[in-house]
Amino acid sequence: MKKIYEIPYFEKVVAERKEKLKKRLLIFPNNDKIYHFEYYWNRPLQCYQCCGCGLKADIIKNDKNGKEYVKHKFLHKETSKHFCKLRKYDETKYTVDVSTRIVESENFKIIKYTQKGISSSKLFIFDSTNKNLCRGYLWDSTNGYYLCIGCTSKNPRVFARLCKNADGIEYLILSKNQHVCDLKEFNPDKYKNDVIIKKSMYKHVECFVNGEKRKYLLIFTDKSQKFYYKFTYENGYLPICLKCNQKHLYIQAYILTDKNGDEYISVRDKKHVCTPFEYNENDFEENQIIQSERYKIIKRNWRGKFVEKLVIFDSIDKNLCHEYTLQRTSKTKRYKCNECHHKYSTCAIAWIINYGKENEHVELGKTPHKCSLIKFEDPNSSIINLPNFKIIKTAAKFKSGNPKDCLLIYSSLEKKLCYRYYFDLTSKLFVCHECEYKHRKRVTAKIHKNENNEDFVQLNEKKHICNPQPEKDVLKKMSRFFNIHN
Ligand SMILES: [Zn+2]
Ligand SMILES: [Zn+2]
Ligand SMILES: [Zn+2]
Ligand SMILES: [Zn+2]
Ligand SMILES: [Zn+2]
Repeated sequence: MKKIYEIPYFEKVVAERKEKLKKRLLIFPNNDKIYHFEYYWNRPLQCYQCCGCGLKADIIKNDKNGKEYVKHKFLHKETSKHFCKLRKYDETKYTVDVSTRIVESENFKIIKYTQKGISSSKLFIFDSTNKNLCRGYLWDSTNGYYLCIGCTSKNPRVFARLCKNADGIEYLILSKNQHVCDLKEFNPDKYKNDVIIKKSMYKHVECFVNGEKRKYLLIFTDKSQKFYYKFTYENGYLPICLKCNQKHLYIQAYILTDKNGDEYISVRDKKHVCTPFEYNENDFEENQIIQSERYKIIKRNWRGKFVEKLVIFDSIDKNLCHEYTLQRTSKTKRYKCNECHHKYSTCAIAWIINYGKENEHVELGKTPHKCSLIKFEDPNSSIINLPNFKIIKTAAKFKSGNPKDCLLIYSSLEKKLCYRYYFDLTSKLFVCHECEYKHRKRVTAKIHKNENNEDFVQLNEKKHICNPQPEKDVLKKMSRFFNIHN
């Protein structure tokens, strides 16, 4: 065979092999264009090499006329020959018309972005007639091409390969397969880098909302931490901007860890439609915790019913306390100071956390009491101290005689509800008037003096059947038969 072949004895073609375009050289050694040898481009050797037997050749440009010709590299001898067989020319194998499958750079866009700490590359190929419509392609690193997202789950796969022309301008070659997916609206906002928030610009906090503990993520808008956006966990495990969500804009944040193990926040780059909150440290301070030795749950009789109360003792004087009343409407064990509520219109609140479980404790709300501490009266105790009782001197109106003592014992000081006791001369005991006359039951009380020479009352073990009455009604009733001296 000859060493040199000129046109028309050779032809440079493009063959598509395994979805890649390959440079091929065909040599037609005879005068027909039916049989040929096929050479592939050997990139490392920078020459063509016969696909069948490895014979090497170069394409050389003639300096004089600019025409190209093929020159074989014969090693030892001036002649050589193919050890392979001639192939029959099949036009469909080489005359590859890829022009319909080429996408020029103005019709596609590759967007690289980092969201949730993950960097992605997405290719968008726009519709040639409507640039708002596109198909998205995901980078497939195994195959080195972009795969149509809409067609991934279907067969055949549709993909695009990124190429560069001689001038370094990028273009795409699409696979032969046709799309089974539809064009979609192009939404570049979805492919923006997340905003990275460093530790100094955010804070995890907990606070009470309607008696329930809630977790929030605060993202500050300024270094001085004056304003912040409040991210809530209410919609699931991902924190989202609370106020934007109310306006149906979903801005989510991701809590991530960098390669040094430091936590940071990655937030979707969306413009808030809400205004930031002004930061007030008190809002998120930890609630004061009260351990079990400083509180007690008691039941007090009020209007014939038992009401659950939470007693929180003063940290210094254990005889003093604040009493909170259980809120019936609340699902949680939430108690409110009635004194503060009724007299000062403030809301001093306490919750029992882990009720009846391990680590049960009380958390106090942040609003302080305006009411004063009161002396604790144990409802189960038979001892009653001042001011929970009162002795009054009475003298019968229609009989002459010495004034007699009469005892009022309050069941509720704030409501001025009391039991009326008269003094029984025979037994030297105070006896509940109502229980004795209406129910034929003897409920008694005795006055003693304590070490400070102050009066206190000791009750017998019998419980009242009667209900406590408003003090003013009791006094009115008594005044019909008695003169009241004090
Ligand atoms: Zn060969
Ligand atoms: Zn598709
Ligand atoms: Zn917002
Ligand atoms: Zn109070
Ligand atoms: Zn009674």
